[in-house]
Amino acid sequence: MADAKEPAGVSNLAGAGAPGSVSGTWEPAPSTPLAPGLYLVATPIGNLGDITLRAIDVLRRVDRIACEDTRQTQKLLNHFQIEKKTVSCHEHNERSRATELIQNMKARSAIALVSDAGTPAISDPGSWLVREAIAASVPVFPIPGANAAISALIASGLPAEEFEFLGFLPEKSGARRTRLENLAKLANLAALAAPSQAGPRKTARTLIFYEAPHRLLATLADLESVWGPALRVVVARELTKIHEEFLRGTVAGVRRELLSRDRIRGEIVLLIEPPAQTVSSGAAQDAATTQEKIADRIARIRSENNIDEKEALKRLARELGRSKSDLYRELQRERARKR
Ligand code: SAM
Repeated sequence: MADAKEPAGVSNLAGAGAPGSVSGTWEPAPSTPLAPGLYLVATPIGNLGDITLRAIDVLRRVDRIACEDTRQTQKLLNHFQIEKKTVSCHEHNERSRATELIQNMKARSAIALVSDAGTPAISDPGSWLVREAIAASVPVFPIPGANAAISALIASGLPAEEFEFLGFLPEKSGARRTRLENLAKLANLAALAAPSQAGPRKTARTLIFYEAPHRLLATLADLESVWGPALRVVVARELTKIHEEFLRGTVAGVRRELLSRDRIRGEIVLLIEPPAQTVSSGAAQDAATTQEKIADRIARIRSENNIDEKEALKRLARELGRSKSDLYRELQRERARKR
């Protein structure tokens, strides 16, 4: 590989400016060699038109492309008529592959890393390779582009000034509930810790999760029991695709809408706006006080449907996507705490 003194893009910037300078204009320069290093290239999350000019240019000019799934990336490369050697780099081989790729880059190769969709290393492989590259003094270049969390946030209508991206929640219902309960406590504490001049701040930061369609209803049910039915949520589905959809409202309302559907499909980002902490004293309110207890929910289901406890437990378990025995144990724990 020919030596290149400047990182990708610098030599292509007409006019003044450093890489990323807003005053520079960009044009592809396929004949200019890329600087050796690791290029983290974002790819579309649905709409192929969302690939950037720079991403195409870099993918054309690197020596090799490391892919989460080579077959998936090949479709993208075919679409943009990019002929390039690919190599797999996924969660099961990232560590061993990193060693090999770093040797290549130390020998002056330019390597791109792409995931199946969106920005590498965001709920996707890449972080390990990046850390190893930095440790080996290999330059790392972000080539930014599509990302589902940010796309959902900006169109959600929820506060975007401060947010927290939390990736996927645990799949198992018990662990998911515990995680959400801990988040509720943290959200309360954060709201208390950053009072504005007029008193405690009005909203906590928006929380963003990735969620699988088959777990969405159970997660919404958990959110409702942790934060209450009035929690503001947004479900962003199939972003940038033909069936793109935003469901905005209270958790109870959005859940009702989704329950009325035959099936929930597609890729989903779930956003929530934890309610403002209303206590004005310095004492943190225990998040448990804002949760609806299992016993209360069972009592409500029983009275609404005129059924016995066993049947109510069965219905609640189905609604929450949890096992009856798991829920029964939690009920017993609640009752033991009351005694
Ligand atoms: N690295 C990707 C990014 O930058 O967004 C995320 C990869 S993660 C393995 C895949 C998850 O992202 C999906 O399960 C879904 O929660 C979310 N996601 C990806 N594409 C999406 C889309 N078009 N619409 C909504 N959510 C999407």
